[in-house]
Amino acid sequence: MDNSKSILKERCIQLLSIIEQKRISYPELIDILELVTLDLEVKKEVIREAQEKGILRKEGKNIILYNFEEQKFKPNIIRRELEDRCRRCGRTITKCYYIEFLDSELGPYGSSCIKKSGLTRKI
Ligand SMILES: [Zn+2]
Repeated sequence: MDNSKSILKERCIQLLSIIEQKRISYPELIDILELVTLDLEVKKEVIREAQEKGILRKEGKNIILYNFEEQKFKPNIIRRELEDRCRRCGRTITKCYYIEFLDSELGPYGSSCIKKSGLTRKI
């Protein structure tokens, strides 16, 4: 398997496992996954794998997220003032937000894109 693709999938799963909101809509799920990648194939595979791992379940039009106890780590949102491009929409931004994981960080994102993560209480 393409290594970078597997990293993207891992990031998606990691992100899903820390979302505090337990019931989200399908568009919200896509918004969250798109913080990591716009690749349709990856998004589809992540949704399938998350279902297999028991992280995600479809219930009608809703998505129910089950976060594993051991993954209940609270990510930090870091803000840096610098000029960069938003990882999600490609827009030039000067207030860059990053989601900080234990071993890495995801970003940068502009303020409107980071809000789609559902982690905005930290901002
Ligand atoms: Zn953006």
